Order: sequence, then C-alpha cells, then structure tokens
Amino acid sequence: MAPETDSIEMFFFPFVGGGHQIPMIDAARVFASHGAKSTILATPSNALHFHNSISHDQQSGLPIAIHTFSADISDTDMSAAGPFIDSSALLEPLRLFLLQRPPDCIVIDMFHRWAPDIVDQLGITRILFNGHGCFPRCVTENIRNHVTLENLSSDSEPFVVPNLPHRIEMTRSRLPVFLRNPSQFPDRMKQWDDNGFGIVTNSFYDLEPDYADYVKKRKKAWLVGPVSLCNRTAEDKTERGKPPTIDEQKCLNWLNSKKPNSVLYVSFGSVARLPPGQLKEIAFGLEASDQTFIWVVGCIRNNPSENKENGSGNFLPEGFEQRMKEKNKGLVLRGWAPQLLILEHAAIKGFMTHCGWNSTLESVCAGVPMITWPLSAEQFSNEKLITEVLKIGVQVGSREWLSWNSEWKELVGREKVESAVKKLMVESEEAEEMRTRVKEIAEKARRAVEEGGTSYADAEALIQEIKGRRLARQD
Ligand code: UDP
Repeated sequence: MAPETDSIEMFFFPFVGGGHQIPMIDAARVFASHGAKSTILATPSNALHFHNSISHDQQSGLPIAIHTFSADISDTDMSAAGPFIDSSALLEPLRLFLLQRPPDCIVIDMFHRWAPDIVDQLGITRILFNGHGCFPRCVTENIRNHVTLENLSSDSEPFVVPNLPHRIEMTRSRLPVFLRNPSQFPDRMKQWDDNGFGIVTNSFYDLEPDYADYVKKRKKAWLVGPVSLCNRTAEDKTERGKPPTIDEQKCLNWLNSKKPNSVLYVSFGSVARLPPGQLKEIAFGLEASDQTFIWVVGCIRNNPSENKENGSGNFLPEGFEQRMKEKNKGLVLRGWAPQLLILEHAAIKGFMTHCGWNSTLESVCAGVPMITWPLSAEQFSNEKLITEVLKIGVQVGSREWLSWNSEWKELVGREKVESAVKKLMVESEEAEEMRTRVKEIAEKARRAVEEGGTSYADAEALIQEIKGRRLARQD
C-alpha cells in the first residue's frame, strides 16, 4: 500500500534486542499496513536482526523503513548487561535525528529510560510501549495503591489483590523488586506514563476485556495486538526476532515425524538464565513424564564460558540427550529457535513457558495451552491470567521472583516438572477443556487484527488521533 500524501509519520524506537524489540518491530509493521509511514530507529547490530523482514515489507509496497544510528550497542553488550543495558549512547543521535526530521509521533520502549525527556523537550507526541498486557498493569497499580506489603507476616503469606474483577492471590515473593522496595526505585516510569500521550499495547480486547476497560478508563491506550500475527509467510515466521541459529529444517523435520498433538515445547524466552541444577531437574522431570518434547535450552547462569550458540556447554544429566535421541522422545536445541513456526506446528500440544508476554500471546494465537513457569518481570501476573482467569494452563509451582542475574534461592524439583507435564499432556477432561478454551481465544485473536476487529480499529483510531493533532497544530 502506498502512503497517502496525508499519511502520518510514526517513529518506533524499540529496545535493543530481546523480547521487547520483537513486538515493537511487529507493531511498526502493523501501523505501516494501516498506511502510516513507519520508521524503526535501530542500532547497526540490531537492524541486522530484522532487516530481511522489513525488506520484504518494502517490496510488497508497505511504507516502512529502518533508520540506523551511527552509535552501536551490540549483542555482546546485551548478553553481558541483559535487559538493563544503558542505551543512553543513543541519546544524541536520537535528538539530532528528531530535530532533522520530526515525526508526527514516536513510540518508545519503556527501557529507554532517558528518551522521554528528550522527546518531550522537542515537543513531539510521545507514546509508550511497555511490552505487556493490561492485566499486569492492573495488578501492579492496585498493589501499589492499596496494599501495605510491610504488614504481611512473610514473603509467602498470600494476599488478595484488591479492586480486580477476579479473585487474584499474590505473595510478596512473586512481586518484582520495584514493588517490594518502592523507596529504592523512584517511579520515573509512572511519571513518563502519566505525562505521555498514551500507550500502545500488544494485546487484544477479548483476551482481557475487564482489564482493558480498566486501563482505558484511566488513560489513552490502544490495544493493537497480537502483533505477531502480522508475520504471515513462513519466511517471516522463520526470521522473526532474528534469523534462527539452529537448523530449523532439522527441527521441522523432527516435528513432522511426530503425531499431531503429541509434543511439548519447552523454552524460557530470550533473556532467562537457568542454573545448571535447574536444567537437570527439568531434564529428569521431562524424562519421568514419558512425554515427547522439544526443548530449546537457553543461556546458562554463572557460566561465562558457556556458549549456547554452538552448544559447547552441556549441563544436562549424563547420557540424557543420547537416551532421548535413541528413544526418539526428545529433541534438545541450543540457540535461537523459530518459535512461531514451532508453536504453530500441528505436532505441538503444550508449551512450557516462563510466561514472557510475547511467548504467552504466541501460544494463545497458536491455540496451545501452557505450563507456566514465571521467573521475572511481570511474568507472575501473566501466570495468574493464564491459569486462573483464562484457565488455559497449569502452574509448575515457581514461587520466587528473580532478577535476571540474581541468585536462585530454590529450584523447582523434578517431581513438580513431571506432574505439570502429565497434567497438560496426558489426556484428561481438564486438559481437553483448556485446549478447547485456548483454541476459541486463538480464533478471537485472529478476528481482532482483521478489518472489523478491535485491534484493527484501535490502530486506525490512533492514526486518526495523530492526524487530528497534526491538523490542530497547523490551524
Ligand atoms: N524467541 C524466539 N526464539 C527463541 C527464543 C525466543 O523466537 O529461541 C522469541 C519468542 O518468540 C518471543 C520472544 O523471543 O517473541 C521472547 O519474548 P518473551 O516476552 O516471551 O520473553 P523475554 O525474552 O522478553 O523474557
């Protein structure tokens, strides 16, 4: 689609790498498909990850481009500092580019903590992208405003999160550190959130209607997801995020050799680092469950010499991989996997996930129920949404919120792993109901992004609002 002459110009400034960058790239592609002239601002290293997808879009006529800054933040920096890398080396390049070519609005990832001030100083309409859905926002806000955490007798004492339409119990141990110790974390995020123009959210109304209403009552919010659904071709799905470093054909051939609805997919996202002891418990639990699985082993904690890309580090039990291979029971992969392709494969029956929001939505879109194993960020809230509100998953029993690099106080034992896997994978009425429910939600997700759907309408509404602001400025 060629941009109309009055089409708006939107900039998208994703975080460098990981689970925050991926949906923002997709969001830019969504807005381009609605006719907005969309430019993704990226570092040279990161642009390489999605350059191909954007070229395909350009070839099919979408008004989308990448602007590459001269400053770089590489993948190596990212893997050393994790999601908290300081991206402020991009401050001056961003400021200069905005001065040179001010857009109608800029969508900024919340992790660029310095960027809102610059954008506000230049008087550019600023929209926040926080990478999660409405539910965790409601949980966080109501805990922050209405629960005195110091009054709890211990980290494990349950309390009910007030003012929510569902009864949601939490414990202090499951809360992010910024909620547990608010005095140590000045809430600049909240400030930016309050004085920005609004938030673009990767979710859809029918997934969490009560919580979407709650958020929309309090601020301008556009639910435009699931944005991953903009990846329609196999090529897009293979290369999304970054080109796979594992042999995707080997992986697909292996899945093709399995019966429909028979395989558990295990992955903990792009940043989690499990300690070797935890990997062993997972391996023993999977083996004892006697279910077929495909496991993407991510980075290992506290092992700087480990290299997940070439699999030189092996922290699995002795002989485990060989046994799984011989019995044709499990495929262990190291590196970056084509998650969308795997989840959508007919052989996949369940997903053991850390409940990252992208993985959660991708599982929902593929109609695959989950085993929830939250670790960090807002993942414990996502677990509640999955298992208690939507009832499309079972909990493995993880209880302790961990910063991406903090020490693990307790491991989830092999018995818990085995039990959760059996609960989801072995036929039962409960498992069948979860499967039916998630497939219904998957259908709603598809409808949301089509013309006439709620996410389609929200993307159009944002474009119209921005157009209105431009006209008002011109008058
Ligand atoms: N992902 C992938 N291949 C991998 C690991 C992750 O494609 O081997 C993608 C996954 O599809 C998802 C994102 O990386 O889109 C992870 O985001 P999520 O919010 O689930 O978790 P995070 O990595 O931010 O903790």
